[in-house]
Amino acid sequence: MPHRRPFVGGNWKMNTDLAAAVELADDIVAGEQGLHQVCDIAVFPPFPYLQAVGRTLGHSGIRLGAQDVYHQPNGAFTGEVSADMLLDLNARVALIGHSERRHVIGEDDDLIARKAAAAVAAGLDIILCVGETWEQREIGATESINLAQLEAGLSGIEPGRMRQVTIAYEPVWAIGTGRTATPDDAEAVHALLRGKLAALYDDSTANSVRIQYGGSVKANNARDLFARPNIDGGLIGGASLKADEFLAIVRAAAGAAPG
Ligand code: PEP
Repeated sequence: MPHRRPFVGGNWKMNTDLAAAVELADDIVAGEQGLHQVCDIAVFPPFPYLQAVGRTLGHSGIRLGAQDVYHQPNGAFTGEVSADMLLDLNARVALIGHSERRHVIGEDDDLIARKAAAAVAAGLDIILCVGETWEQREIGATESINLAQLEAGLSGIEPGRMRQVTIAYEPVWAIGTGRTATPDDAEAVHALLRGKLAALYDDSTANSVRIQYGGSVKANNARDLFARPNIDGGLIGGASLKADEFLAIVRAAAGAAPG
């Protein structure tokens, strides 16, 4: 079976203030006890706190990430942030197409594809998020929606750039709701996405790209999810705002004993 290093991201969304963001980062660094050597760990603070959180992370091995990135390099795009600006702050990874950007802010597949292509071309790693709504699941469109979002999101990404790409399967109905996909349901979608990666690229690419699960992952359900062969870690929202809970999820991904 191919070995994929697990990857856990903490998406802080529009939460914390400056002091709380620095304290949270500090607590994660203090508590991670070398877990980053076996599991990639990234945190995604709000844009205004990137620099301060980056300083706190220092050389800890925990990666600094951005919750979004714009596809243009500079210019008259009020309120937007470019990949080079993020790289300037030592952010090395960005979320693209998070459910809240798709469904609350209104981003479509075309914009998401542009962002993904521009970000990887500039040198950022990305986590491309896909996932169906509850209504789509109810009408049996889970597979078609996830496959379409994956294909569209990757449409501008050359095979040689795929090592910069992680996928996050995040059913919209599970995000921030306390409802989690069962490990079996999540694994089925992950396997489907991996099959599509093989069709779009090749087997070796499909076997090396990490696919995270996201949607109400907590310390008490992480282990069962991450035990599935195609689930390579998680993208964590609410539970990433508490260092202890987040690190317990990282330990589950790393296959380490509960702390
Ligand atoms: C997320 O923000 O990507 C997420 C999965 O949130 P939560 O863990 O709170 O459901």
